[in-house]
Amino acid sequence: MPVSLIPLPYPTDALAPHISAETLELHHGAHHKGYVDKVNEAIAGTDLADADLETIVRAAEARGDRTLFDNAAQAWNHGFYWHSLAARPGRPSGPLLEAIAGDFGSPERLNEALVEEATGHFASGWAWLVAGEGGLKVISTHDAGTPLTTGEVPLFTIDLWEHAYYLDVQNKRPDYVEAVVENCLNWDFAAENFSRGTAWTYPQRGLVAQEG
Ligand code: MN
Repeated sequence: MPVSLIPLPYPTDALAPHISAETLELHHGAHHKGYVDKVNEAIAGTDLADADLETIVRAAEARGDRTLFDNAAQAWNHGFYWHSLAARPGRPSGPLLEAIAGDFGSPERLNEALVEEATGHFASGWAWLVAGEGGLKVISTHDAGTPLTTGEVPLFTIDLWEHAYYLDVQNKRPDYVEAVVENCLNWDFAAENFSRGTAWTYPQRGLVAQEG
C-alpha cells in the first residue's frame, strides 16, 4: 500500500490571514502530494514497498539513497508541519512551560530565538523546536533535513521553503515567520510530542482516506 497524502487537519482557510488558503491548497495539494507520489514511485516493488514512512526515511539515509531520502523526509516533514500549526494561538503550559522557562527563560524568549533562527537560516529548510539530551533547543535543517534521524524529539516545525510563504509575503520571510510564531503554533501538539518523548508518527496507510 502506498504512503498516504494525509489530509490537512483544518480547513485551508483556517490560518488566514497569516497563511492564505491559496498557499495551503498549493502547498498541500501540489508540494506535499508531489513528495508522497515520488516516494510511492520509488518504493514500488522494493523491500520498502510496505514499510512505514519513518522506516523509509531512516533506510534511505542509511543506504545513502539521497533522492529517496529527500522525498521521504519532505513527505514526513510536511505531515509534521501541518500538525505544528493551529488556527488559535495557544500557550505552552505544564511540564513544557517549565522546560521552556528553564532553557530559554520565558515563552517570549523562545519565540525570539525561533524568529532569529528561522529568519537567519540560509535558503530552503526547516526551523524546529526539539527536545534532546541537553534539553530544549531551537535548530534549523537544510533542504529535507529532519530530526527524525538524529534522535532528538521534534516538538514543532516551521517550513522555510519559499513555497510556504511566497504567495503571501513574497520574499519577506521574517513577516511569515513572525506571523506563524505569534499566531499559528500548535502548543498542544508540542506538549503531546514533549510528553511522549519519541518522534511523532506519520499517519500510516489505511488509517486515512487517500486523496485524489
Ligand atoms: Mn513545504
